[in-house]
Amino acid sequence: MIELSNIEKRFGEAVILKDISLSFPEGSVTALVGPSGGGKSTLLRCINLLELPTEGTVKIGTDAVSFTAGKKVTWQSIQKIRRQTGMVFQSFQLFPHRTSIENVMEGLLIVQKWSREKARDRAMELLTKVGMAHKADAWPANLSGGQQQRVAIARALGPSPQVLLCDEPTSALDPELSEEVVDVLGQLAREGTTMVMATHDLRLASRIANNVVFLEAGKVVETGSSEAIFRSPKQDRTRRFVSSIN
Ligand code: ATP
Ligand code: MG
Repeated sequence: MIELSNIEKRFGEAVILKDISLSFPEGSVTALVGPSGGGKSTLLRCINLLELPTEGTVKIGTDAVSFTAGKKVTWQSIQKIRRQTGMVFQSFQLFPHRTSIENVMEGLLIVQKWSREKARDRAMELLTKVGMAHKADAWPANLSGGQQQRVAIARALGPSPQVLLCDEPTSALDPELSEEVVDVLGQLAREGTTMVMATHDLRLASRIANNVVFLEAGKVVETGSSEAIFRSPKQDRTRRFVSSIN
């Protein structure tokens, strides 16, 4: 279980996230949706502490870290949370001078300090899962965007994180390549991977997510099952937003 309690994020005077409390049960897939600038990426980055919340608590499993304005938290407590998350970005961000398999192995060798053999086996297992075993020795520049994103997903899953965070995982891809990434994410969802995904793609959200959080101007407007949010949203604002896919 991942729990966010009373998260607030300020950049200077600007309040970007306001009093956000959400929980993401194990095995659930949650889509963060809402207008541009609403705070979806910032919220994802507050879960893995790439951004430190100004206030509030982030809890993953039994590890929790609380933030209070002006108080420092320890680097170790931040690392503990970070290591339980994997993240996939819109722009893939593979290491360009490493092959697919080396990209997946890198964190396992450097961060987890695994042996090369163990890391290679794990990387091959994950590349197989995302349908990229045949491109294990290819360079990122020679892969399509969809293939690069699948390698990035394998890399994020390397250390078996508690949660896979995805920030617009398909929005840099044309519809066909997007489809192969959606297929992989759908398969991971069926296997019980806990995911939180920011996306503009409401079709992707409705296909893969069990839960939807609608964020606007840093606040949660509405949360519910995808069925409830896409079929019968309670708030007018949510209804207008999702009407594009109904
Ligand atoms: P999009 O749908 O366009 O990806 P988003 O919902 O992901 O938008 P965020 O990127 O989280 O939104 O941005 C939320 C707000 O926070 C925006 O107003 C943005 O300008 C602001 N913001 C984000 N990062 C920073 C930063 N490092 N410093 C100052 N303001 C920031
Ligand atoms: Mg964003």
